[in-house]
Amino acid sequence: MTDISIVVPLYNEAESLPHLAEWIDRVMQEHGFSYEVVMVDDGSRDGSWQVIEELHQKNPAYRGIKFRRNYGKSAALNVGFAATQGDVVITMDADLQDSPDEVPELYRMIKEDGYDLVSGWKKKRYDSKLAKNIPSKFFNWTTRRMSGIKLHDFNCGLKAYRHEVVKSIEVYGEMHRYIPVIAKWAGFTKIGEKVVQHRKREFGVTKFGMNRFINGYLDLMSIMFMSKFGKQPMHFFGAIGSLSFLFGFIALIVVLIMRLAGRMALTNSVWFYLSMLFVLIGMMLFLAGFLGELICRNSSTRNQYLIEKEL
Ligand code: UDP
Ligand code: MG
Repeated sequence: MTDISIVVPLYNEAESLPHLAEWIDRVMQEHGFSYEVVMVDDGSRDGSWQVIEELHQKNPAYRGIKFRRNYGKSAALNVGFAATQGDVVITMDADLQDSPDEVPELYRMIKEDGYDLVSGWKKKRYDSKLAKNIPSKFFNWTTRRMSGIKLHDFNCGLKAYRHEVVKSIEVYGEMHRYIPVIAKWAGFTKIGEKVVQHRKREFGVTKFGMNRFINGYLDLMSIMFMSKFGKQPMHFFGAIGSLSFLFGFIALIVVLIMRLAGRMALTNSVWFYLSMLFVLIGMMLFLAGFLGELICRNSSTRNQYLIEKEL
């Protein structure tokens, strides 16, 4: 089996690629690893693919997959993961901000320390403070709190995985920021961290703007929701639906009793409308729960489990 598969998602990084490849080769040869590099071209328009073709011709350990258009980093990683054959899988950005020198130690941590996943931690970052460093501190703090995973830098492009992990998880949408959360949810709980060197971007420009913070949080919400209620939506909708319905129903009875006692006119009372509102919201939540259950029932993955061992 190949020791290491390196997956590189890239979008318009033609200038960086030859330097990256040279650096990877140097490190791999120094340490005597057998390796492959899977470059996933996420719809580049700048000649990145020609560079990948040349790399492949020189050394067939370099493989390439090209998307017809730009689908995003998560899609690129997902396809890259599916293509890997190595014992340990390393992901790395193409822009030379992540250093291949980290690979041997990451490999060792997976093989010897028995981690399922090791995430890089860009302790000292070379990105703009306002746009990246401060928002990302906040982002990491919330993700840590919500997921219970003690990582400082969830979104680091440099990560190492045990082979089985990448074959068991699916990265979609913009979920690449939460791969440790997805892995933990799949049952791979030994998640470690390694401080890694980070460098300035030399060529090209960053591909992620400010909107990633909004999308990032929405994704965190949906991932937490999916992990808790993805297979039993009724437990979520039913619970708050019942509460709302019960509250509205009791309030309605009180309003009716007061009406019968002649204390107030029904349609003049704000309480009447409020209790009706709660009853209706409760019923709608129930309906959403039932629809969710129907969708789950028809999902092809409803009975897909990851089996660790069997005798
Ligand atoms: N990337 C990609 N598809 C995209 C956006 C980015 O494959 O739609 C790649 C990009 O080429 C780079 C990595 O993802 O290799 C990280 O992107 P970038 O360096 O722009 O992010 P930053 O370091 O600024 O967070
Ligand atoms: Mg970068």
